[in-house]
Amino acid sequence: MAKVLTSRSENYSQWYNDLVIKADLAENSAVRGCMIIKPYGYAIWEKIQAILDQMFKDTGHQNAYFPLLIPKSFLSKEADHVEGFAKECAVVTHYRLKNDPNGKGVIVDPDAKLEEELIIRPTSETIIWNTYKNWIQSYRDLPILCNQWANVMRWEMRTRLFLRTAEFLWQEGHTAHATREEALQETEQMINIYGEFAEKYMGIPVLKGRKTESERFAGAIDTYCIEALMQDGKALQAGTSHFLGQNFAKAFDVKFTNKEGKEEYVWATSWGVSTRLMGALVMAHSDDKGLVLPPKLAPIQVVIVPIYRKAEELERIAEKINPIVAKLKSLGVSVKFDDSDNRKPGWKFAEYELKGVPVRLAMGARDLENETIELARRDTLTKETMPVEGVEEVIVKLLDEIQESIYKKALDFRTEKTTKVDTYEEFKELLESKTGFFLAHWDGTAETEELIKNETKATIRCIPFEREEEEGVCMLTGKPSKGRVVFAKAY
Ligand code: AMP
Repeated sequence: MAKVLTSRSENYSQWYNDLVIKADLAENSAVRGCMIIKPYGYAIWEKIQAILDQMFKDTGHQNAYFPLLIPKSFLSKEADHVEGFAKECAVVTHYRLKNDPNGKGVIVDPDAKLEEELIIRPTSETIIWNTYKNWIQSYRDLPILCNQWANVMRWEMRTRLFLRTAEFLWQEGHTAHATREEALQETEQMINIYGEFAEKYMGIPVLKGRKTESERFAGAIDTYCIEALMQDGKALQAGTSHFLGQNFAKAFDVKFTNKEGKEEYVWATSWGVSTRLMGALVMAHSDDKGLVLPPKLAPIQVVIVPIYRKAEELERIAEKINPIVAKLKSLGVSVKFDDSDNRKPGWKFAEYELKGVPVRLAMGARDLENETIELARRDTLTKETMPVEGVEEVIVKLLDEIQESIYKKALDFRTEKTTKVDTYEEFKELLESKTGFFLAHWDGTAETEELIKNETKATIRCIPFEREEEEGVCMLTGKPSKGRVVFAKAY
């Protein structure tokens, strides 16, 4: 049975959910807010991981692993941090179950109460800085450039597959430095790496900038972010890099002796991207027929479907296809020859469209005769018949072209959806009929930001790094402003 998706225009949010489930990326689980990532979805995540991991290593970072459980007292050592995360913490209170004396299964054993409760990590700054205390004595021990790939838990009330789940997979980098400048450089370097990854590999243009004070990470001095625009015109925060100053070093008493023999607190950063990137990938490019994956992240880049009636015909097609498969593999292309005979070609076509395989080849009896092959592009849904000879080189080039074209399409979309506004009236009116990024002047106060948010549901996504210096006045209060910030409704 064909898997039909709700169209984007009919119900965007339903389309997204349908697609994630029908393309076999993930599904809801028996546990509220926690998802099951299915093999096809996980294969994409593994690609994301592998590329990012290499980028981290190329910039001198190493992977390590810290415990899932954090003593409650650790969390409360940094005041802003605990305040920010307290509402989302899952707490372990006991370590044993026992048979229910009333014969109803098992109950928590009241005698197995933990002396100190443990928090399931919502992020690992506290346990890591408690550890760094033992690792750092002198300037010679710095910098520490660690990353961990892990799961975390934040008790989110409104969850959506990949975009916001209670448990999610991510990487969290935690670095320790001797100077403020070096920590700031690291914070910037990592947001640049995220930006490069989003644009070059995911095909998603992103705005880089800093968060306003009220949107900052709990415990950070400054939060840098990348903001992407989804096809419904809503923004998605796709990655963050935090300058933590000496906040965590002070909370955990992490000092080092500098070159002059004086004691100083250590400077810190942390940075992360999560399985939310999977949601961004789906929402940025896909269409009513299914996923559109950028070739660099597609688990299968080329699928080949034989069209035949008799076994003997399939044999002859396979003879032609096998060398193509071998050649493509040798060129570093991931390819699948789907000669399974339990599905018709039409079903396979629809299935691979749904799964977002960038290039589809098909060969039938007439192609055999003419030495041709049909090539179809997933992103544009265009098809052409071409000579078998040399098809591999054509494909290698085409994959690059698709990668670029997907990015360009997303960039054009963002350009079209970015509007400058000067008055609050205009802003409110536009928000009624339009979505996207709105560039406007703001007076820099949390009160104004809050007022605008309450009235329009639009938030300040970031203060872009690359913005024109422009004297202006806040669209709400008329107070002076030196440049525009980016407003949008967001996920
Ligand atoms: P944070 O530690 O809050 O700066 O978040 C680090 C990264 O995790 C960011 O890239 C967020 O987009 C992402 N993230 C935060 N909360 C969630 C969530 N509930 N589900 C998935 N990703 C999340």
